[in-house]
Amino acid sequence: MSCRIQIKNATIVNEGRSFVGSVLIDHDRIDEILTSPDAVPELPADEVVDATGCYLLPGVIDEHVHFRDPGLTHKADFSTESLAAAAGGVTTILDMPNTLPPSVTREAVVEKLSIAAESCHVNFGCFIGATRTNIDQLRNIMPNLVAGIKLFMGSSTGEMEVEGDDALTAIFEQSRLPIVVHCEDNATIAANMKAHKAQYGDDPDIAHHPAIRSEEACYRSTAKAIELARLTGARLHVAHITTARELELFDPADSRITAEACLPHLIFSDTDYRRLGSRIKCNPAIKTEADRAGLRAALTDGRIRCIGTDHAPHLLREKTGGAARATSGMPFVQFSLVSMLDLVDEGVLPIERLVELMCHNPARVFGIENRGFLREGYMADLVLLRPHSPWTLTPNRIFSKCNWSPMEGHTFHWRIERTYVNGYLLYNNGQITNDGHHGRMITYMPRRAPRR
Ligand SMILES: [Zn+2]
Repeated sequence: MSCRIQIKNATIVNEGRSFVGSVLIDHDRIDEILTSPDAVPELPADEVVDATGCYLLPGVIDEHVHFRDPGLTHKADFSTESLAAAAGGVTTILDMPNTLPPSVTREAVVEKLSIAAESCHVNFGCFIGATRTNIDQLRNIMPNLVAGIKLFMGSSTGEMEVEGDDALTAIFEQSRLPIVVHCEDNATIAANMKAHKAQYGDDPDIAHHPAIRSEEACYRSTAKAIELARLTGARLHVAHITTARELELFDPADSRITAEACLPHLIFSDTDYRRLGSRIKCNPAIKTEADRAGLRAALTDGRIRCIGTDHAPHLLREKTGGAARATSGMPFVQFSLVSMLDLVDEGVLPIERLVELMCHNPARVFGIENRGFLREGYMADLVLLRPHSPWTLTPNRIFSKCNWSPMEGHTFHWRIERTYVNGYLLYNNGQITNDGHHGRMITYMPRRAPRR
């Protein structure tokens, strides 16, 4: 295997600029970046890849996935989902804690990370989940072990659900890690569900899902999280914003209180329930076209800081039923980058901004070391893309274990040609080149102490 690779003549998109040039990979790192097509590298390359007509980006960091491992591996596992990630140009993932056992103790986090070390093909990190009773675990977790704390503020994930001002304030006050919050107000949802069941029976049609998990439920909870973060000085990242109204609460200039948008809410609107039914059931719910337009506008005005997928696979048979019975969540990690590139073609955002939202900012928000940017000395996590190369998504292209996608039948216009993970060519034109290759656990820059 060649150890010094030159990818030349690609349009390189990085840190707000696009230019035709070369990236030189030496073993696992980026050794040199040449900013013009005819510049000559300092040392000759063993292998030259002519990428004329292609775009070269930093590998995507998906800061919100549920790989279901351990414990729910009939749906997904680190091996299958990380190959899906690589096929989608995603080179690093951050996994959420609602697995079995849930990652709410140091031991459970270490267990998950050791499973990932043996089976995850892309780079990985994970979150520790907050519960009503694990404040000591959150306070004492070694800051280099996790990306942050995941807090379900009044959502529906059982044990990992924290309500009550004292418990919440303690978590916000005492954490020096970023706190990622799922914001939906339980009381509002419960009242909506009760009213809908009274009118429509035990399992209301999926079309009612956004009225049950309503704008009001999201707004109340997000407003509360922001209020707590302002009071305590905590570093808050609100996950999967779904409504235009919540966006009013964010200030693009404030880098301590940030927001994430996820693929389902950027791609679909409530008009898609008719076509896709419970397949696109997720929490918080996909809302109106006006909400989607608001989210898309916030991609460029700074109110959305990161794009994640909330990749949350279920088997199709678990997706049957309506607003009460169907499971919530859908797979997306393999098709997030190509879906967002569709939006680039539609003029929703420039490609430089896409790189900001999917590569640079996740690294910044979680303080990930040496990744997320094309910089000399950084890890060689790269994705090579070909524009104007249409293809239609059929199930045989899907790497996720659940083997379905809400995007089936869609024609994408960009193609992932190659994905390099730590300098290793893991995905090449439709093929995984060696699934024995493993990603690495990511490392973090020092975290600052809480304000008080
Ligand atoms: Zn999630």
